[in-house]
Amino acid sequence: MSEKNYQVMVIGGGPAGYVAAIRAAQLGFDTACVEARPVLGGTCLNEGCIPSKALLDSSERYAELAQLAEHGIAARPGRLDIPQMMARKQTVVDGLVGGVAGLLKGNGVESISARAEVLSGRRVRCTDEAGSTTEYEPDALIIAVGSVPIDIPPAPQDGELIVDSTGALSFEEVPKKLAVIGAGVIGLELGSVWSRLGSEVVLLEALDDFLPAADRPIARLAERIFRGQGLDIRLGCRVTATQAGKTGVRVSYQQGDAEESIRVNRVVVAVGRRPATDGLLGEGCELALDERGAIVVDEHCATPVPGVYAVGDAVRGPMLAHKGMEEGVMVAERLAGELTELNYDLVPSVIYTHPEIAWVGATEVDLKARGVQVSSGQFPFAASGRALASGDSQGQVRVLLGADDDRLLGAHVIGPGAAELVQQAAIAMEFGACGEDLASMMFSHPTVSEALHEGTLAAHGRALHVLNRASSGGRK
Ligand code: NAD
Repeated sequence: MSEKNYQVMVIGGGPAGYVAAIRAAQLGFDTACVEARPVLGGTCLNEGCIPSKALLDSSERYAELAQLAEHGIAARPGRLDIPQMMARKQTVVDGLVGGVAGLLKGNGVESISARAEVLSGRRVRCTDEAGSTTEYEPDALIIAVGSVPIDIPPAPQDGELIVDSTGALSFEEVPKKLAVIGAGVIGLELGSVWSRLGSEVVLLEALDDFLPAADRPIARLAERIFRGQGLDIRLGCRVTATQAGKTGVRVSYQQGDAEESIRVNRVVVAVGRRPATDGLLGEGCELALDERGAIVVDEHCATPVPGVYAVGDAVRGPMLAHKGMEEGVMVAERLAGELTELNYDLVPSVIYTHPEIAWVGATEVDLKARGVQVSSGQFPFAASGRALASGDSQGQVRVLLGADDDRLLGAHVIGPGAAELVQQAAIAMEFGACGEDLASMMFSHPTVSEALHEGTLAAHGRALHVLNRASSGGRK
């Protein structure tokens, strides 16, 4: 039966959903957030961004032990305690999940623990764990149901030897040999975790190009660095079958005309994610899904059904928590009559490997395809005093400027603090900065941020801490 009618009801308690609910409540709407799982925070907090970063950090500390001798510090060989590592990861997750619950409560959002189905118009049916149903008709409905890992038939998951990204965050021991299917963001992050902890990691990637979305020189450098770290990256490999035995799995794949196979202890399937819209559309629902199963929305995340919006991984665009959160804010603010817009050209991307990879704006390939003349500038971290002092000097910054108008069009980084450097470029780009704006700014010395400064100077052919290419830049 119909219950209380909220002004705003959000389906999904992940980053896009809980942020939408908080912002709606802040703006004075009587708001509820419906979540099917027993915990808030969605994929990001429970089995995505946060637990993976916890393990990336733990594994990085372990890997760093091997480098301490160079600093004049004698350390005994590290001994791994995987259950403790996993317990720490869970403590981080639990703290943040509890924080989200506190934020919803503190902002006056009502949390409803149930699975929601969208019916006709803005009507929603919620079914709780005990099976009892309640129907609502909020004034506005915001759908933020997130995404789930994609399965591939040749590698059916058994939750034990063949797992998805969630399973790979909970191994109870280091697999001696690990195959990761897909060398995308998740494959590289999880592959790095287990490789640093001692696994022999083989990445089987279907495409011939490594990280095709990244700027080419950055992707080429990343591939070289990761291979140097021991990741066995095999491109152009189509997995055709897996055979799980008692203690391991044989993975068969086709590479060009050759049929190959490897024997590993475990397999992680990381071939992408799809919108979690299965079972969401109930009877009478007028929402449309695209061919990927994403809810069709316009640039303001409005569906064609009046009063119904969808945000985050469940709609078009990159599946990134920060993109979903800002969409949630935009929808809540537009409901309150504000004219909030999102700049989808400036969604930063980050891959949390070591070195980190991050970028914002266009790649050189994109710009050339659009006929834009580019001045590019590179600065290697090997010439950064701060990076060298930290023993973290692999990688480079690439700055792309419009050759005609000096506009900052893209920043691409592999190296220490890449995500933070790229955010500086994103701020500059949001304010329409030119190369000259960054070039004439004072950057603290010694910082890795200076690499962004020097990269911009290099695009003008006037870098100070590397030699300039004879062909580079215009405005010396
Ligand atoms: P992805 O699209 O980044 O990478 C999947 C890779 O698998 C691709 O390179 C693809 O070519 C390959 N692939 C697909 N089918 C294959 C097959 N049959 N055999 C071998 N390779 C195959 O997807 P992902 O890494 O699974 O991540 C999913 C989503 O989650 C992405 O949208 C990603 O942006 C997001 N995510 C982001 C972060 C981050 O921002 N740091 C971290 C994790 C996940």
